[in-house]
Amino acid sequence: MSKSLMQTYNRLPITFAHGNGAWLTDTEGKRYLDALSGIAVCGLGHAHPAVTEALREQVGKLLHTSNLYHISAQNELGDMLTQMSGMERVFFGNSGAEANEAAIKLARLHGRQKGIDKPAIVVMERSFHGRTLATLSATGSRKAQAGFEPLVQGFVRVPYNDIAAIQSVAENRQDIVAVLVEPVQGEGGINIPDDGYLAGIREICDTNDWLMMLDEIQSGMGRTGQYFAFQHTNIQPDVITLAKSLGNGVPIGACLARGGAADLFAPGNHGSTFGGNPLVCQAALVVCKTLVQERLEERAAQLGERILSGLQQNLRDTGGVRGIRGKGLMLAVELDRPCGELVNEALADGLLINVTAERVVRLLPPLVMSDMEADQLVVQLSKLIVDFLAEKS
Ligand SMILES: *Cc1c(COP(=O)(O)O)cnc(C)c1O
Repeated sequence: MSKSLMQTYNRLPITFAHGNGAWLTDTEGKRYLDALSGIAVCGLGHAHPAVTEALREQVGKLLHTSNLYHISAQNELGDMLTQMSGMERVFFGNSGAEANEAAIKLARLHGRQKGIDKPAIVVMERSFHGRTLATLSATGSRKAQAGFEPLVQGFVRVPYNDIAAIQSVAENRQDIVAVLVEPVQGEGGINIPDDGYLAGIREICDTNDWLMMLDEIQSGMGRTGQYFAFQHTNIQPDVITLAKSLGNGVPIGACLARGGAADLFAPGNHGSTFGGNPLVCQAALVVCKTLVQERLEERAAQLGERILSGLQQNLRDTGGVRGIRGKGLMLAVELDRPCGELVNEALADGLLINVTAERVVRLLPPLVMSDMEADQLVVQLSKLIVDFLAEKS
């Protein structure tokens, strides 16, 4: 533990020295199977040769020039992302929170354009959108907000996966300009909405001239079995936000828009010094190219099914297991009790997992995991959960 760092994290007693694919090695030489990918960041795994090579080359050429000039890798990445997503324009920042800040600012400009002075955005219970003042105000967690009041105004909260609740807001308020929602909630416990939820939101947004804004920061870049989770449906959002696995560990975030929303920013009303610099754009470019060329989104779907059905087979009849669910490689085993200790038990066993929303074991494995590694994950985790539940009952 370091006394010179602000105590913002409860860190596990471990330091990693290097990694390879789905494996990490700590400073003592012990190896761990990584079922978390640095919280959905290292989708291509650790030390991916194509990423390493692209970064090496760019580091020796040019790191940063600022957005006072054209940046060819940024142009190329913009083209690639708009093609993959069906969106029209991209703004690059450095994190998920910044991507969402850009989306929130777009929504407010959209409102102003409609003559609404105090525009409000519909957000969800149990959502997570980041830690800046605006994004923590949008986040559906009192824990994230406590102590930081006054919160940023202009958010209206409704339950997740509840179309009627959004419809009721539409009928009762004239100040709404957008909906901001995760297509699958990550931090909130891997909550997968009913089929038709996104289409229902699309319809309400169309009827009321609201922007439909999807936070794909955790679900995007192939993780759920499509490039972006909304592509499991046939709707197209107005705005999507990306970060996490976009740079495979190099900090980059993006806000993508189409239609009127793509034209709202003009020179001078938004920006970022680092945003979209040559280094991070080269990293994200190679991530996108690898994803597309190797069809890793299809691999994520396959692997996800393999892990899900393995866990279902092993844990279906285990008392204390409340639910086993997943969309691609966003996977969860929900227990009937708080289970934070499981993280330490898994660590001792050489496995990296996460517990979120107190009772939900969350898995976000890299898309490059092999079948054998996935099977090992299922066996190891099932045993840990069975033992944990037996001990506690
Ligand atoms: C992680 C996350 C964020 C915040 O991203 P940062 O890079 O930590 O700012 C926002 N939304 C979702 C859905 C996330 O999973």
